[in-house]
Amino acid sequence: MDEMITELQSLNIGKVKNNEPLAQHTTMKIGGPADIFIEPSSVEDIKKVMNFIKEKNLPWRAIGRGSNLLVSDSGIEGVVIKLGTGLGHLTINGSTITVGGGHSLVSLSTLISKKGLSGLEFASGIPGSVGGAVYMNAGAHGSDISKILTKAHILFEDGTIEWLTNEEMEFSYRTSVLQQKRPGIVLEAEFKLTEGDRTAIVSQMQKNKDYRKETQPWNYPCAGSIFRNPLPQYAGKLIEDAGLKGFSIGGAKISEMHGNFIVNAGNATAEDVLQLIQHVKDTIHNLYGVKLETEVEIIGRK
Ligand SMILES: Cc1cc2nc3c(=O)[nH]c(=O)nc-3n(C[C@H](O)[C@H](O)[C@H](O)COP(=O)(O)OP(=O)(O)OC[C@H]3O[C@@H](n4cnc5c(N)ncnc54)[C@H](O)[C@@H]3O)c2cc1C
Repeated sequence: MDEMITELQSLNIGKVKNNEPLAQHTTMKIGGPADIFIEPSSVEDIKKVMNFIKEKNLPWRAIGRGSNLLVSDSGIEGVVIKLGTGLGHLTINGSTITVGGGHSLVSLSTLISKKGLSGLEFASGIPGSVGGAVYMNAGAHGSDISKILTKAHILFEDGTIEWLTNEEMEFSYRTSVLQQKRPGIVLEAEFKLTEGDRTAIVSQMQKNKDYRKETQPWNYPCAGSIFRNPLPQYAGKLIEDAGLKGFSIGGAKISEMHGNFIVNAGNATAEDVLQLIQHVKDTIHNLYGVKLETEVEIIGRK
């Protein structure tokens, strides 16, 4: 491992760390170490990293802001590539924007709204990166990424880079083609927005933020909705009806504010959260016959 780290460092590809605790890179503040952790400074860096991974045949995973992740206490094998400010470029051309996969979605939506561009109001309180949002087809308030994305620039495992159109991204409820069919890294995305009234857009953003503050445990470490909604039913409502709000295992607790949020109420381990998830699944299945599936991604060593 030491040899690989030295070799990677000699490639000048941004930050390279060994055994980096992922609790520092997830909004749940949970997660063991990544064997190799790389924060590239440019698209060129990421290409070099992917070549290295291919050459050594290493397992890999891209992460953004870690806001939809539950990382195992034993950490992640292989390489974790974090897309951050090094991939945070932004070009605005009329109502079309091109933005790096590492850009924060929250700051992007704030910036864009101030320019009188509409389409990203839904994203005002989603604490992810652009790349993570594209991968997840993140959404809220009746909209999502699929409504504004024209194309996404993807680096695939074999080292090829392609622009995928909206159709080719195969977006659906919180999924995209990247999740199973075609693993790759979102380097940048192009969004088509519409010109609108600046005051109305900014005010809508504020309303969305206020709604979140009233309904979600924004002051606790968490990963947003734990379960996908078994539409037309809502996971949060089922969990609330089952009387599970406030129920806890170890340091993991079902939020008193929102049934579909599990918070790290103090030194929770991934194991605590996993046990709580299983308890909720069993309870909801026994009471309502509904099989809940997680929206949060559970990753790392078993
Ligand atoms: C308080 C709170 C509220 C939230 N509210 C919402 C909401 O309203 N709607 C919603 O949809 N989500 C919500 N989320 C969940 C989360 O913010 C989104 O899923 C977000 O899109 C994840 O982005 P990320 O950068 O944090 O991704 P990460 O959590 O880092 O990663 C999630 C997945 O995306 C992949 N990924 C990350 N970056 C890339 C990339 N550049 N290329 C390819 N794959 C990548 C990772 O491999 C992983 O599989 C919320 C989370 C929190 C904590």
